[in-house]
Amino acid sequence: MSAATGAVTDALRELHARFADVDEGELADYIPQLALADPGAFGLALISMDGHCYSTGDAGVPFTVQSVSKPFVYALALSLLGLDEVSRWVNAEPSGEAFNAISLEHGTGRPDNAMVNAGAIVTTALIPDTPVAPRFGRILDCLSRFAGRRLDVDEEVYASEAATGDRNRALAYLIRSTGPLPVDPVAAVETYFRQCAVRVTALDLAAMAATLANGGVNPLTGDTVVSEPVAAQVLAVMATCGMYDSSGDWLLRVGLPAKSGVSGGLIAAGPARFGLATYSPLLDPTGTSVRGHRAIGMLSERLGLHLMYNPALAGSTVTLVTTADDLPAAPTGERERVRRGRVAVAAAQGALDFTAAERVLYALDEAASGRTGAVVLDLVRVTDIDTVARAMLRSGLARIADDGRRTAVADPDGRLCGPGDESGGPRRFGSREEAVTWCTETVAGPAAAAPRPNTP
Ligand code: GLU
Repeated sequence: MSAATGAVTDALRELHARFADVDEGELADYIPQLALADPGAFGLALISMDGHCYSTGDAGVPFTVQSVSKPFVYALALSLLGLDEVSRWVNAEPSGEAFNAISLEHGTGRPDNAMVNAGAIVTTALIPDTPVAPRFGRILDCLSRFAGRRLDVDEEVYASEAATGDRNRALAYLIRSTGPLPVDPVAAVETYFRQCAVRVTALDLAAMAATLANGGVNPLTGDTVVSEPVAAQVLAVMATCGMYDSSGDWLLRVGLPAKSGVSGGLIAAGPARFGLATYSPLLDPTGTSVRGHRAIGMLSERLGLHLMYNPALAGSTVTLVTTADDLPAAPTGERERVRRGRVAVAAAQGALDFTAAERVLYALDEAASGRTGAVVLDLVRVTDIDTVARAMLRSGLARIADDGRRTAVADPDGRLCGPGDESGGPRRFGSREEAVTWCTETVAGPAAAAPRPNTP
């Protein structure tokens, strides 16, 4: 392990050491097999968007996924049926109630959300069941793709829950009596029990959470498991409903989309940052792992991971706002200097999204004073432009052009205007100096014969 990445593992180890001796909480025992878990087991795992894996303690110890399966089966339902259809059957409101409560909408019988048992049973029932692709086969495939390896079922835990799960059966019958459950309640609950008995490790759960955080693409395998909108929808429901009846408090204090399960698994996702998972089977009264809750809470606080602390963009987006006569390459002659003084220049760097594009547009306005006749946007040090930022920058430059100013971009990689994209966009050059030179010629009077856009 290299020194740098060792620092991440050290952070996990420190949390492990800090909370390993906490012996508060109880093993779940309403599924008899779960009461046999080792109360001392404690593992942590974190997987980055680049697929870098960090873990400590019992991160490779298998246990059953239980409720942590719910967001992933919800993701499968959303992928197959779409948000509107799924929402007809399962709402997305925090229930504020325990995982096994009768959380059904008054009048319709629609479960409050897919993170509590009532909603999860309906979600499972929504997965199509055909001879070629049986319902449980689809679910196991989907969970496996999220984990990046083939998962299997712990038959003993399944049998244990099947033998004792009357409350879930009762819930399913109740749902059918108040609103139309699309399948036979017994069949729905049996599949739901199997889904809960799928065996995972904390490392698997970290990969599953990381896939949601990574817009649906598993960072270990590169597999697109669900689309980006579906991943965002699932994270939203996890954020508001993932932690049973302490979901509000969790969002307030920890601030990450999360899901806990009664076997002691707990996942949290930092959108576009990481997937995190813990395993420790001693549960608090709401059914969440005591050590897991504390470890993720502390990590979030220490590393500033709370979603609502949206940090300012790292590094400044805009690196230069000036006119071309101030640039180091400005030539000596007075006439030329005056001409260059009429060319506004703004430069940006890094990855441009909505926030960054707003800054760049503001800088362009700042650079383009009344006396400038042309505007150069230097994107040479920009590494990426998302579709929103691209549209904003193009329309901003178009408005400047409509105002009667020449516009040019230094965009050697064609990030703003791709090759062959000459239709009305700003003139593209391979370097800032070439763009400035062209603008200097054009601001002086009728445009000199403009060179073709540069292709590096
Ligand atoms: N199989 C469990 C049940 O339905 C899952 C509950 C949970 O993990 O919250 O009771």
